[in-house]
Amino acid sequence: MQPVTPTSARLEPTLFELSRPGRPGYRLPISGVPAGIGASAIPAAQQRASGPALPSLAEPQVVRHYTRLSQLNLCIDSQFYPLGSCTMKYNPKINDELASLPGFADLHPMSDSESCQGALALIHGLQEALCALAGMDGFSLAPLAGAQGEFAGLLVIREHLRRKGETGRDTILVPDSAHGTNPASATLAGFNTLQVPSNDRGRVDLGKLKEALNDRVAGLMMTNPSTLGLFESEILAIADLVHQAGGQLYYDGANLNAIAGIARPGDMGFDVVHINLHKTFSTPHGGGGPGGGPVGVKAHLIPHLPSPRVERIETDAGARYEFRFDIDTSIGALSCFWGNFGVLVRAYTYIRHHGAEGIRDNSRCAVLNANYLKALVAKHFPPAYSGVCMHEFVLNLREADIGGQRAIGVAKRLLDYGVHAPTVYFPLVVPEAFMVEPTETETPETLEQFAAALEKVREECLTQPEVIDGAPWTTPVRRLDEVTAARNPVLVE
Ligand SMILES: *Cc1c(COP(=O)(O)O)cnc(C)c1O
Repeated sequence: MQPVTPTSARLEPTLFELSRPGRPGYRLPISGVPAGIGASAIPAAQQRASGPALPSLAEPQVVRHYTRLSQLNLCIDSQFYPLGSCTMKYNPKINDELASLPGFADLHPMSDSESCQGALALIHGLQEALCALAGMDGFSLAPLAGAQGEFAGLLVIREHLRRKGETGRDTILVPDSAHGTNPASATLAGFNTLQVPSNDRGRVDLGKLKEALNDRVAGLMMTNPSTLGLFESEILAIADLVHQAGGQLYYDGANLNAIAGIARPGDMGFDVVHINLHKTFSTPHGGGGPGGGPVGVKAHLIPHLPSPRVERIETDAGARYEFRFDIDTSIGALSCFWGNFGVLVRAYTYIRHHGAEGIRDNSRCAVLNANYLKALVAKHFPPAYSGVCMHEFVLNLREADIGGQRAIGVAKRLLDYGVHAPTVYFPLVVPEAFMVEPTETETPETLEQFAAALEKVREECLTQPEVIDGAPWTTPVRRLDEVTAARNPVLVE
């Protein structure tokens, strides 16, 4: 990974800019229909006076344009992408291929259960596999993203409490290291949120948790390992405390890469869990979707799971599968039809392909890779917390030997070395946080190259701070004004 010489990289022109009049990329066969026929059926006021203003280009121009566009962003198929918490691991292409088999991809969303038994068997099989992996009794695959899984899970808890007449429980506890979607989902589901501070080991402070527990608490949302990459060693005690206080325990399993096949949220005492299929189970998600955030629960909450669920019915003629949309104790539907079915096919294929042992090995490699990389960089980049990490680790760049430079500068300069930047400034409890998740799909050599690139950037921080301040130099667009980009987006040309 050599730094590329600074260039003023150019943005790809639009198809309209590349267009030349009279250069169509197609030749239509003569239709044999006399001109004017058909047009006469359209009222004169609605008829076009001239053709549509479409660009006209040769086909190879179009292919090259989109191929170049596809390469403007750093991506997992061409570069290392250690984006902590988000798990940008390599997703085997075979899973995409199976998801696009015509029998899956061409299924009509209005198909009745009778005509799509294979697809229903797959959904049911995935429900069962996720139950086994998470230690839960029931799963619904309806949620379309992690945050929607959280929202659904919290509505399930709310419905459970409502039916028990415990409507006074209106507060969800959230640790201060939690993903931002946790308090957001709790608020959206109608709860107040209360933050639980971490102790100096980055774990939930048990004393503070006890103080926060009372008869207004509906539940505690936790990520374990947390977004600090740390396993909550006191999880069983935490679960007991929350249950004794009458609360439910919610597991944010968006990223299951450290524990899948090794430990199960259900065995840790959790009542509800959501899992991001697009982080752990082989759906590419660099472009922001589609995703899948199945939500699973212990037996007492199954009646409230979102619909639809697929049930297996044993008959004399063998098993049949049936969509159930009509469960009146359910919190209801979250979207039309089935959820993101292609995502479910990829996850099912991935799980069946690897099997229990393969999934366990993947988790072990993810943890091993993270610890190896942490050790490679530790000399100049101290981790925020000491000890063994899980699938990711967080560096505290305020403590790093980088001449007072900030996490944002280091992250931006790494782009010039052909590495996607790690997650920065999250979790909020670490100053100048720099969160690295190498994933199990990278080789030791790639990790060593990343450590070497980080070391070069560190030297630049000390000797050429102006290079860091101006980075990135080689990307098609340079450092953006992110506030203006969000507040005043330019959406048309
Ligand atoms: C990614 C993530 C989420 C949110 O998942 P989305 O699919 O982006 O909505 C929630 N919690 C954690 C810990 C995550 O890493």
